[in-house]
Amino acid sequence: MYQIQYSIWNEKDFPGFQKKLVDLEEVSKAYYRDTAGGNLAEAHSIDTFLHDFEYYYLALFKAHLITKENFRNVLDQIKKVVAVKVLPKDARKYFALTYQNQIYINPDLKPVRSLTPDDMYLMVHSHELGHVINNQWVDASFHYANTLYQNPRVQGILRNMGLSSASYLKDGFCLLDEVVVQDVAERVTYLKKGQARPLMESRNDKAIFGLNSYRTNFNLYGEFQKIAVRFARTLSFLHCEVQDSDDEVLRKLDIAAFRGDFVARIERELEFHPDKIDSFVILLATMGKIKDSTYQIIGLSASKGSSVIVNSYLSPFEQITDSYTSPSKKGY
Ligand SMILES: [Zn+2]
Repeated sequence: MYQIQYSIWNEKDFPGFQKKLVDLEEVSKAYYRDTAGGNLAEAHSIDTFLHDFEYYYLALFKAHLITKENFRNVLDQIKKVVAVKVLPKDARKYFALTYQNQIYINPDLKPVRSLTPDDMYLMVHSHELGHVINNQWVDASFHYANTLYQNPRVQGILRNMGLSSASYLKDGFCLLDEVVVQDVAERVTYLKKGQARPLMESRNDKAIFGLNSYRTNFNLYGEFQKIAVRFARTLSFLHCEVQDSDDEVLRKLDIAAFRGDFVARIERELEFHPDKIDSFVILLATMGKIKDSTYQIIGLSASKGSSVIVNSYLSPFEQITDSYTSPSKKGY
């Protein structure tokens, strides 16, 4: 039976958390035994996941990413994980996947930069758990994207930009989801390592950005980090100050995302400021297009993207976000 690592999970404050870990082990290992064809060599990867799961929830408190107000809500979300499954060998180009609250883990993760394999498991498992938490607003964001797209003016604006589909607006929200879960995963991993996070650095990825470099301190998904920071600075309910570091802006975005009413707050902001809708949809859809093209370039999507496409959308995106963060015109 799963052995709890930390003694703080009493039933009164964290109802069902211990039982979830025990149940998850039972369900996941039974499934693994039934499908592994007698080869149980990778069963330990399920134990690693469960240890990481327990540490992850603890780390959200330690890193002040959840509070008295929302830790129950986050607990209810992570308890929705129904099984941990091991990715088949031919699907291990993915670090991990989450589908219908089942997390598919990869037992063959390799070290990246200064991260050991153990760090990588914690980071990737944390990333997927973040997706399970964010699921509480991702569905709502798709619904909201459809509503926005029904507006003929919005359709006209997007048509002029070659973005005639609500799917670009949805992918824009997906980019934010990716960056939030990765930023939290990075925080959790370095907390466990007892080390400060790396400094932001310039990186090049010619296939995605051509000759332009981008800045990041992420180990994975770094190409999206700065884009999400720029977007977050335009959301007035995050109360970002011009002097806030990118790290601080992302922390504010993480906390807002884990509250669960993230999309409702965006809707409210645009209801009070209908004059901001046009630039909001341009930013969201260009983020979606950049994410879509990037996934095509790195081979996670069927059609063909290019750095020319990415840069052609990055440029209007940066112009608009710059106009929001210039000292004379701050926030929505
Ligand atoms: Zn992800």
